[in-house]
Amino acid sequence: MPQAVRRTFVLGTSPVALVALLGAAAPPSAGSSGAGDPYFPLAGNGGYHVGHYDLTLRYDTDSRRLDGKAVLHARATQNLSRFDLDLNGLKVTGLTVGRDKADFRRDGQELVVTPRKALKKGQWFRVTVTYHGKPAPVTDPDGSLDGWIPTDDGAFVAGEPQGAMTWFPANNHPKDKASYDFEITVPKGRTAVANGVFRGQTTSHGRTTYRWRQSEPMAAYLATATVGKFKVERYTTRDGIQVYNAVDPREADAAAPVLKKLPSVLAWESKLFGPYPFKAAGAIVDRAPNVGYALETQTRPVYDQAPDLSTLVHESAHQWFGDSVSLTSWKDIWLNEGFATYAEWLYAEQHGGDSAQTTFDELYAEPASDGLWEFPPGDPGSGANIFGTPVYARGAMALHQLRKAVGDRVFFRILRAWAGEHRDGHGTTAQLVRLAERESGKDLDALFRTWVYQQGKPTAP
Ligand SMILES: [Zn+2]
Repeated sequence: MPQAVRRTFVLGTSPVALVALLGAAAPPSAGSSGAGDPYFPLAGNGGYHVGHYDLTLRYDTDSRRLDGKAVLHARATQNLSRFDLDLNGLKVTGLTVGRDKADFRRDGQELVVTPRKALKKGQWFRVTVTYHGKPAPVTDPDGSLDGWIPTDDGAFVAGEPQGAMTWFPANNHPKDKASYDFEITVPKGRTAVANGVFRGQTTSHGRTTYRWRQSEPMAAYLATATVGKFKVERYTTRDGIQVYNAVDPREADAAAPVLKKLPSVLAWESKLFGPYPFKAAGAIVDRAPNVGYALETQTRPVYDQAPDLSTLVHESAHQWFGDSVSLTSWKDIWLNEGFATYAEWLYAEQHGGDSAQTTFDELYAEPASDGLWEFPPGDPGSGANIFGTPVYARGAMALHQLRKAVGDRVFFRILRAWAGEHRDGHGTTAQLVRLAERESGKDLDALFRTWVYQQGKPTAP
């Protein structure tokens, strides 16, 4: 709306009309089909915020059929005549808003919902979607698979950046975080592992139902419901974190020595980054040879094979950087990957390996033609590049430059302030720069411009 027109109108009008102009009585309109992400324009949706997801799932590992019921507790952020959910594939068999059946139609990954009555700005409402089908992963712009990925004994479920919508209807962008309850039924002998605290399991008629609760806010892409034949290990750490590990028996021997270190890795990271942000932790170690990556699914990362220690350190660091402090745009992905990679460097430095300076120097020795310098970490250019080397390695190099500029004491204070002040929320690169300048009292614009945004290899540091 052109501001001049609005101001002229306001000047000649009553206080009641003024309230109306501020939006309370704006006519209901359709929520947008995306959250405004330049790399994934249809990811997420506008017009509402989800506070909680109740997901009731049943997966048949033989037929690979998923039956789902998703109840979303959401709040309208505008007067809303229509809104979208993200859902890719699967057949929707019922949809209600509140108690009323709602009209819906499918348009690619958009599930377009028209409630019987328009929703008022600020109103909480409940959307219930029942659906079923054979979930299939999406292929990301970089060619990798993401979402519900079938394995020989179940499914490896990891949704970064797009895949949550392959198994439940979601507001599928990290801007919108919510709490989750999961109830997942699988054939007896299989285990279904989701996020957060394990709430128990019951078996009847040859099926076992697993219940999980993720109470701290979580981005949809960090949800999992991984199913397989797993050996389960449960314990509580000295800090009171409830650990649940699920390990494919074929990976158990290789995983054991690394998983044993999880409590000490979390304790070490808590010392560096501040208190661990969640009630629960753990690992899901699957055998999923067609996946090719691990993901920091919230509280309980999922590994496609037995991880090495460095990978465990990386995914654990994401619990602070990426999971608790989330992106508002996929363009900022270096805030996740640069930090998690730098955690690996710090771990090596403090546990008898190379110093972070040595790792930096080795990388910096790469010629200007190397892929490391192909694009700046803060501006990958497209969704196809968000998991490229510069995001990880040069992102970590940027943090190392920051550490050298402000000194160790201030640097670690910055990391803790970042994790603490944005806990259970979001952060942007601009906010990180401001925070680092506040904590250090230094002008750091040039440093961030050079290491995060400048094209090509930066000249000698
Ligand atoms: Zn990572």
